[in-house]
Amino acid sequence: MDHRGRQQRLQNSLSTHRLDALLVAHPPNVRYLCGFTGSAGVLVITEKKRVFFTDGRYTEQAGAEVQGARIVIAHKGPLAAAASWLSKHQKIRSRLSSKIGIEGEHITVAARSRLAGALPSGFRLREAPALIEQARMVKDEEEIARLRSAVLLGASLFDRALETIRPGVRETEVAAEMEYAARKAGAQEMSFATIIASGERSALPHGRASQAAIPAQGFVVCDFGVILAGYCSDMTRTVYVGRPSAEAREVYQAVQQAQQAAVDAVRPGISVGEVDGAARKSLQKSGLAKYFTHSTGHGVGLEIHEAPRLAAGQSQVLLPGMVITIEPGVYVPGKWGVRIEDVVVVTERGCEVLTPTSKELVAI
Ligand code: ZN
Ligand code: ZN
Repeated sequence: MDHRGRQQRLQNSLSTHRLDALLVAHPPNVRYLCGFTGSAGVLVITEKKRVFFTDGRYTEQAGAEVQGARIVIAHKGPLAAAASWLSKHQKIRSRLSSKIGIEGEHITVAARSRLAGALPSGFRLREAPALIEQARMVKDEEEIARLRSAVLLGASLFDRALETIRPGVRETEVAAEMEYAARKAGAQEMSFATIIASGERSALPHGRASQAAIPAQGFVVCDFGVILAGYCSDMTRTVYVGRPSAEAREVYQAVQQAQQAAVDAVRPGISVGEVDGAARKSLQKSGLAKYFTHSTGHGVGLEIHEAPRLAAGQSQVLLPGMVITIEPGVYVPGKWGVRIEDVVVVTERGCEVLTPTSKELVAI
C-alpha cells in the first residue's frame, strides 16, 4: 500500500485548507494513512512532519506496521502525547494562532476538551473537512484486489445460507452457519451483524438475525459480509421459502430490475444521486417506489459504510476506482420485503459487478 504517497498528498493539501496540522485518530483513517491496524493510535501530520503516537500495548505492532511516520510510544495516552508534541514542535506563527485540524465526525466532545486543555494558548482546534474520507473513496489497484477477494469469500457464504434455510430453523442458526463458514475460510470477522430477516421480518431493512423461526412461506432477506485483509464485503440476496405467488414474483422482479437499472447507470461522470434516481424510477413503473425507504447504496472499503452515499440529491460524481454497493429494496410493513445488493467497482468505461452470485429468485 502506498502509505507514504497518501501522507504526502495530505500534507500538500493542508495549506489549501488553512491548517497547520491534522490530528488523525479514527482507526480506519489511521490505517489508511500509515498501515497501523491497532485500535489506539493518533497520527499527527504537519506540512513537514509525520508522527504516530500509540501506547505500550502496541510497541511491537507499531514497529512492524507503521510506515512513513516516526513512532512515539506514549505513557499518558496517544492523544495527550500528541498534544504535548504539538506544543513543543509546532511553531505558532507570529500574531496568528496555529490551527490544528481534528476529525469532527469522529472525535468525542470529551476528547476534544481534553485536547484543548492540553494545548497552550495560541493553538486553535478546527473541524477539518473529511479529507481522508474523500481520498479513501477512490481505491487503488491493491485495494480493489483486496475488495475482490473479500467479496468472493463473502459470496461463498450464500451457499451455506441456501443449505440451512428451512421452515422452522431459527434465523440465528442460519447466521451462525454462515459466520462459522466465514471464519473457517479465513475471514477476520463479519463486516456487520448478519441480517437474516424472514417472513414479516423481511420488511425490516436492518432485521438482524433473531430467534424467530423461519415460516413455511415467505421471503428471507440475507444481508452479510466479511472482512478480509482489512477490507469489507457486503451483499444481499432474498430467497423465497415455499412456492412464491404471482405477486411475490412480481415484487421480486421489480427489485431485480431496479437493481439492474442502477448498475447500468454506474459510470464515471454520473452523480450518485442519478444512480439512486435510476433505481427509484424503475420501481415507479410497478408502483413500488414508495416502499423503497433507504438510499440505493454506499461506498465500501476499510469500513462497511463509507463515502459516497448513493442518495437522492447527492452530487458526488463517480470516478474510476470507486467501489460502491447497489442495493435497492422494497419493504411492505407487516407483509414482506425484498432487497438485492451487489458490490460494484467503477471502471474507466462503466463498471464491473464484483459479486458473482446469480440474482434470479431462488425458491426453497
Ligand atoms: Zn448489505
Ligand atoms: Zn450495503
